[in-house]
Amino acid sequence: MPTYEILSVGEELLCGLTTDTNATEISRGLREIGFSPAFRQTCGDDRDALAACLRLALSRSDVILVTGGLGPTYDDVTRDAVAAVTERELVFHEETAARIRAFFDRRGRPMADNNLLQAYVPSGGEVLPNDYGTAPGIWLETGNRILVLLPGVPREMRALFQEQVLPRLTEKYSGAGCVRILHFFGITESELDGRIPPSLKNGSDPAVAPFAGTGEVELHLSSFRESEASAREAIREAERVLLADLGSYCYGADGDSLESVLVKRFSSHSLTLATAESCTGGLLSKRITDVPGASAVLRSGVVSYSEAIKTKILGVSPELLAVDGVYSEACAKAMARGVRDLTGSDFGVGITGIAGPEGGTEKDPVGTVYIAVADSAGETAARFVLGHGKGERRFIRHLASSHAIAMVLKAAGLFSGEKEEK
Ligand code: AMP
Ligand code: MG
Repeated sequence: MPTYEILSVGEELLCGLTTDTNATEISRGLREIGFSPAFRQTCGDDRDALAACLRLALSRSDVILVTGGLGPTYDDVTRDAVAAVTERELVFHEETAARIRAFFDRRGRPMADNNLLQAYVPSGGEVLPNDYGTAPGIWLETGNRILVLLPGVPREMRALFQEQVLPRLTEKYSGAGCVRILHFFGITESELDGRIPPSLKNGSDPAVAPFAGTGEVELHLSSFRESEASAREAIREAERVLLADLGSYCYGADGDSLESVLVKRFSSHSLTLATAESCTGGLLSKRITDVPGASAVLRSGVVSYSEAIKTKILGVSPELLAVDGVYSEACAKAMARGVRDLTGSDFGVGITGIAGPEGGTEKDPVGTVYIAVADSAGETAARFVLGHGKGERRFIRHLASSHAIAMVLKAAGLFSGEKEEK
């Protein structure tokens, strides 16, 4: 597998005025074909600094993708720096000049002469015509390295990269990559990592890498082989090995999220759900209704923040509140059952807890959340202590809603349901 590196050029990137979305997009695109990045560099609009970055990149990476600095002004130094480092002349490219003139003609605007600077190409470089702007991309092979120069304007960069660069790289390295993401919930990154078989951790192909998100962990499986079919097969086999041990924590793959699998699996089984939320204040129903098609699944959501509403709307008895308290499995169960009965849904889920920063007690510190699921067989409930302290209201609420979705999926026997083939 070739190594590649991205070199982003622009003072605005260094200063933090502009976020380097180009590098992110390039990395994502190359990942799709199985390339892994070796390095990234960012430098300002300085010819010597860029030349130094280019030398370093050429010393260690097979493919170097440069974005930015191809414009017509004095601070656009990429062409010059590349010509200097690769010891090439800059050659005037008549066809590109004609395209640039036509670009201005079409808009009925006069062209400043400096625009023709963009028609100069390091000798031996191939022009990648840009349909969205004036600066073309340039593909330059030097020794056994490939230098790809792309404009900085994201729209132009994206089009050139997707339409011209990715196909060329795929052909050049006549193999194919495959990437698969597995989503886990209810297991920590370190525990997951400890359970990845050594055979999948020795840096060979397929590669497996864990990434921790908000209360979730992903495993990224990637393979680069002589054909897409064999890369896919290698990934499938790695997935089989991993899920033999860890399948009960894995809820989905690739673009899945907890809420999207809930909507997908509940609607395919014609199941309905209603939510009764206290400390999450509607976040759970918000997440579910973010998913298109949620109307087939979510009947209703009650935000029962006060005890009076828990009693009046959900039918939680005042005696229960007096004896067990609002922070209790009993209350969560009564809320889940109440909203299920109220709405005639197959499942009801209740959440009550303390998101903080105030309100914690000795028995129930900030982050304590009780969640219950009710179905035709009765209720199940669990107590969680989420987050690490008082300043984590958002995190605690998000995790509580995630646990609620996981519990609903488990109650329905759909947590590690059919993972769709990519
Ligand atoms: P340039 O091609 O260097 O003249 O860049 C043109 C414009 O594209 C800049 O003013 C930025 O707004 C934007 N830009 C340049 N590089 C990047 C990058 N790496 N990521 C996102 N935007 C960029
Ligand atoms: Mg620039």
